[in-house]
Amino acid sequence: MTEDTRVQALDFNEAQALEEQIRTQILTAEESQAYFGTGTYAGNFGAKRWYATTSQIKRLAHKNRNAVKGLNLWQNDELDFYYSQLKPEQLTIPEPKVCEFCGAEREYLGLISHNGWIYEWEVERWSNTPQRCDCEKAVKKREAEEVERKRLEEEERQRREAEAQRERIEKQLADSGMKKRFLARRFENFVTDIPGRKNAYRTAKEYADNFEAHNANGDGLYIEGTFGTGKTHLAAAIAIQLIEQGHSVIFKTSDDLLRDIKATLDDNGKEEQKVLDRLKRCELLVIDDIGKEQATDWSTAQLYAIINDRYECQRPVIITTNFNENDLIEVESPKGVGTHRIKAILSRLHETCGLMTMDWQDWRGNG
Ligand SMILES: [Zn+2]
Repeated sequence: MTEDTRVQALDFNEAQALEEQIRTQILTAEESQAYFGTGTYAGNFGAKRWYATTSQIKRLAHKNRNAVKGLNLWQNDELDFYYSQLKPEQLTIPEPKVCEFCGAEREYLGLISHNGWIYEWEVERWSNTPQRCDCEKAVKKREAEEVERKRLEEEERQRREAEAQRERIEKQLADSGMKKRFLARRFENFVTDIPGRKNAYRTAKEYADNFEAHNANGDGLYIEGTFGTGKTHLAAAIAIQLIEQGHSVIFKTSDDLLRDIKATLDDNGKEEQKVLDRLKRCELLVIDDIGKEQATDWSTAQLYAIINDRYECQRPVIITTNFNENDLIEVESPKGVGTHRIKAILSRLHETCGLMTMDWQDWRGNG
């Protein structure tokens, strides 16, 4: 005879009282996490899960011969027709442990559900750890563990957030159209060795730092100057800083920008509209090296449409160009065709863009 068989079967009232009690035993999310390693068993919504201590479960089994699935304390399947038919798996009840601090006996918890009229109760799983002790030292240890758990959780949250941020920035950079070789052109590595460079840096940095205000007004920058003075570097530095702050920026040479539009022309205008929409709607559009493209009536019309649309919607544009105004009019309207359009573009840009001139002699001979 094992100890279990000495437990007396409960009478009707005792059994009902015990079941009533169990039906109030619901885990909080924190307890569910602590005992079962997951918050899934918290509450009781729909799932009809309760918990009971091992001794409650043993007593429940004596409500009648065995009222808990898998728990046949008599080890005899012939006792009940249904049990002998269904042969439930034998349940192993975990032995209690003692509190490491006060020595009190701590039982394991079984997650149980009521399973219809055949088995009545079913133990779904046992807790990973025995019931927690409420003695002072055990409580202190748990609190310390909780602090540590929260700290790790916060650390993990921050790590994930940084990762998501990094991915978002990478995607934005890829979407911006900026070429790889421009990605290293940041404010940090712009050389400010002469007053001209220093001033240009200051203007560009001011623009990036106060983008919210400039954006609200639709203010852009018109960066003109001779080859190799760092125009593209500063325009890229502005774009990268803004992308890292979460702004939508497109950065393209006028050549690439026109090529993008041209590449979509065969597609019944659907793709074209998408490309144009992006160029028109992004928060900042940087057109690098304007005037370098092979200008045609079509290309100036495209540039005009984009710049004019942004002008009307007060969306900023940054332009870099190697040409001064007169030269730009000339290269953009080679046979005198479309002069009015390039003049209109320049007039829009004059109205909205701060002028940055970077036309000192470049002795490095590179951009
Ligand atoms: Zn204790």
